[in-house]
Amino acid sequence: MRELKYLKKRLRHKEEAIKKIKRLYPHLKILNDNILIEYLGLESYERLIEFAKELEASDMPKSRDIYTSNKKVCRCCDSEGMPKVLYKYKMDAQRAKKFISDRENIKLKIYHCPTSEGWHLSRL
Ligand SMILES: [Zn+2]
Repeated sequence: MRELKYLKKRLRHKEEAIKKIKRLYPHLKILNDNILIEYLGLESYERLIEFAKELEASDMPKSRDIYTSNKKVCRCCDSEGMPKVLYKYKMDAQRAKKFISDRENIKLKIYHCPTSEGWHLSRL
């Protein structure tokens, strides 16, 4: 029974992390959970939890209009004015790039965020 309890706890944390991510990146709401995880290049439960924690801690703009200054995140937006996903590790960005390119048949490049520590994807 102990194991079941542990699994339930992990599942709950995972759901909370995904909720947080979708709140901060509203344009990702349309993705189902597994696709979202791949989209973010996050391969493990631990990385997902870490990603969500960092997002929350870094005062991401909660909406397009409210920005706070913080070195950890940036104000980079995509062409629709939505906050760009900031990948902390280049490896995550590479995984996400492969995933999105394969799925949507578009060419993407990875570039270093001009204002903070991390990586973005952009259409070629
Ligand atoms: Zn940026």
